Amino acid sequence: MDCIFCKIAKQEIPAKVAYEDDSTIAFFDLSPQAPVHILVIPKKHIMSLQDTEVADGNVLAHIMVEVIPQLAKKFNLADSGYRVVINTGDEGGQTVKHLHVHLLGGRSMQWPPG
Ligand code: AMP
Ligand code: ZN
Repeated sequence: MDCIFCKIAKQEIPAKVAYEDDSTIAFFDLSPQAPVHILVIPKKHIMSLQDTEVADGNVLAHIMVEVIPQLAKKFNLADSGYRVVINTGDEGGQTVKHLHVHLLGGRSMQWPPG
């Protein structure tokens, strides 16, 4: 499958990996929008949040409940705070069609987002 994030998950193309386990990999965004900008993805190819199945809930819960808080601690965002974003579909601003969770931190965020 011609999916850039699947290739990163299989280490077929390089990425700066911040975390990895059997189901999940996290790597630094190539075009960071904050001092810390990490993408956390399920290794399984899921196109978007809208394409998840109930069984995908396990890996998504793992990402939200374990991986992101751990990364936030590791990169000193736990106290200052951070933002977690899942762009979904065209109007959601999703450009890579493999579900990914943005972890952004290290600066003050604005609301509403653009
Ligand atoms: P989204 O717009 O939510 O689909 O986010 C896709 C993100 O993937 C963007 O922030 C891109 O900068 C990032 N990106 C695209 N290709 C790569 C890559 N090869 N390695 C790391 N980040 C990437
Ligand atoms: Zn994929």
